[in-house]
Amino acid sequence: MLIRTGECTRCGECCRTVHITVVRDVTLRQHGNLEELKRYLEYRGIRVVGEDAEANALFYAIDVPCSQLTLDNRCRVHNTPGQPLLCHRYPTGPDDIEECGYRFEPEKFAGLPGLGNGK
Ligand code: SF4
Ligand code: SF4
Repeated sequence: MLIRTGECTRCGECCRTVHITVVRDVTLRQHGNLEELKRYLEYRGIRVVGEDAEANALFYAIDVPCSQLTLDNRCRVHNTPGQPLLCHRYPTGPDDIEECGYRFEPEKFAGLPGLGNGK
């Protein structure tokens, strides 16, 4: 299990890009192959940023800033019912945003006295 440390430094990076996961085999069948799909999406400003063949997933990124992000990187709906759940929980795991003030480390088990030694 990973433990989250750090805090939000209000870099605003997670509010500038939308990430979408699509079904890989269906999408590649529609477009013929990955290169064709990338070309099609690139014309619309959508990037293919990764794939997981085992999970049958393709990952897209679209650089569309959120309308609720202010010029000084604040969220207009922060901690209100209007804030999307995903934003409220973010980040729940390691992401590829270098600027992010959060880090994830494996949980360290201190061990319990008297356990694990057979006595
Ligand atoms: S709703 Fe707020 S936290 Fe979520 S993307 Fe928009 S500005 Fe960022
Ligand atoms: S990327 Fe991380 S530090 Fe930057 S605004 Fe989002 S949560 Fe905060």
